[in-house]
Amino acid sequence: MELPELTVLSRQMSAEMVGKLISEVEVANPKCLNMPLEEFQKTVKGRRIQAIECRGKWLFVRLDSDGTLLFNPGMGVDMIYFAPRGILPDKYHVRLVLDNGAGFTIRVWWFCYLHFVPLTRLGEHKLTSGLGRSPLEKDFTFDCFKKLLAGKRGNIKSFMLDQKNIAGIGNVYIQDILFNAGIHPKRQINSVTPTETKALFKSMINVLNHSINLGGLAYEKDFYGNKGGYGHEQFKIAYKSGEHCPKCDGIVQKIKTGSTSSYICPNCQSLDFRKST
Ligand SMILES: [Zn+2]
Repeated sequence: MELPELTVLSRQMSAEMVGKLISEVEVANPKCLNMPLEEFQKTVKGRRIQAIECRGKWLFVRLDSDGTLLFNPGMGVDMIYFAPRGILPDKYHVRLVLDNGAGFTIRVWWFCYLHFVPLTRLGEHKLTSGLGRSPLEKDFTFDCFKKLLAGKRGNIKSFMLDQKNIAGIGNVYIQDILFNAGIHPKRQINSVTPTETKALFKSMINVLNHSINLGGLAYEKDFYGNKGGYGHEQFKIAYKSGEHCPKCDGIVQKIKTGSTSSYICPNCQSLDFRKST
């Protein structure tokens, strides 16, 4: 789950949950919590949900009495709404019930984090306090992006995936973001020209918004259990090794970039920046 999926989820959750009280929380594996289960239940129960938003790959659920629930889906989750007296899925690890009887269950694929942090201590929460800005914040302008890149070392892909720089992009969306901008993932940041930087910013915003408009990735579920509409047909080159590049006659290649894999068109994304500019 990357920024588009969590944006979709947070909007749908807001519509169902803001203004309601939490009446019950069940957690099968308390390892995902930052305090003992009983303490967590006591702390969270009876609080009203005031707002839900996402920052990067985290959901921030603001509760009354200055509390915040922080949720990170790890490698992925099914976080599914249930109506009052609605049917629950067969398997789930977390169940949260609201005062109107509605709520949601979470089935975790690998691991997740569900932390309670008082608002005044959010700055001490190690996993979220260093998060960079979300690229879809209204005031995250091209100038902000340019300033972030200025003077940075290393390759552009690692920079874009580092949640401390920009929060919310993972190894799925980065593929087409770089392809649209004609930038090889291994390009050094200081070799990226002003024109390319502009193209990269535009591509980042377009790819993320396009996916949000389609409901997120086709293999992830939204709050109502529906799959998103952003799948193989929407990808330009991501997960398409051996297929034709949509811009030229090149063949998409899968390459290793550090610990991640990348999909590139060797013609459109030259590693030698003098050729690609
Ligand atoms: Zn190409």
